[in-house]
Amino acid sequence: MEQNKIPQATAKRLPLYYRFLNNLNHQGKKRVSSKELSEAVKVDSATIRRDFSYFGALGRKGYGYNVEYLLGFFRKTLDQDELTEVALIGVGNLGTAFLHYNFLKNNNTKIVMAFDADPSKVGADIGGVSVYPIEELEERMEAISVAILTVPAGEAQSITNRLVDFGISGILNFTPARITVPSNIRVHHIDLAVELQSLAYFLKHYPLKK
Ligand code: ATP
Repeated sequence: MEQNKIPQATAKRLPLYYRFLNNLNHQGKKRVSSKELSEAVKVDSATIRRDFSYFGALGRKGYGYNVEYLLGFFRKTLDQDELTEVALIGVGNLGTAFLHYNFLKNNNTKIVMAFDADPSKVGADIGGVSVYPIEELEERMEAISVAILTVPAGEAQSITNRLVDFGISGILNFTPARITVPSNIRVHHIDLAVELQSLAYFLKHYPLKK
């Protein structure tokens, strides 16, 4: 089945499903029920059944889903067999943490280079990744289509413009700044402060009952 037939909301949940199923597979489990999946990935089971129906996994009553079949599908759909190389821009506290974090544990994306404007950071090797001067962004990133932005908010748009100019496809924006890009470029925005604030707000105003 072609990926562009899957709704975007479903596509966004695929990595979540993939990670859980991969763990099950490592534990030697052959099948999983939508209830089990639902509890593990915190998506209601009706949504899971609908998501899975898009890729032809219909789950049998009393049997559940075949783990290997699903994994095979997810691998193809998520391009798990292909390594996506990523560049990180801004090697501050957050950027440094990402360089140390091994994304390969869960999927096939890998930070292969980093950039910073601070000469004291340039030349470092952090978690096996070299830090280059920001001036070299264009020449070094030629073959890379995804960037993680961890620069200060005030620098986010000007760095984004440079990325757009040389043909970036996707940006994972960890700065609090809302960045503007042409419509053919995908930006996912993760503002950790906002996420935390929102969690605190929900805990206070909508406490979960047992
Ligand atoms: P963090 O916000 O990740 O906790 P920090 O507080 O250590 O980091 P920031 O001031 O947020 O530092 O800057 C993040 C990193 O971005 C720093 O390493 C800084 O040198 C770098 N940086 C700042 N401006 C630019 C730029 N124009 N291009 C590339 N890197 C930059």
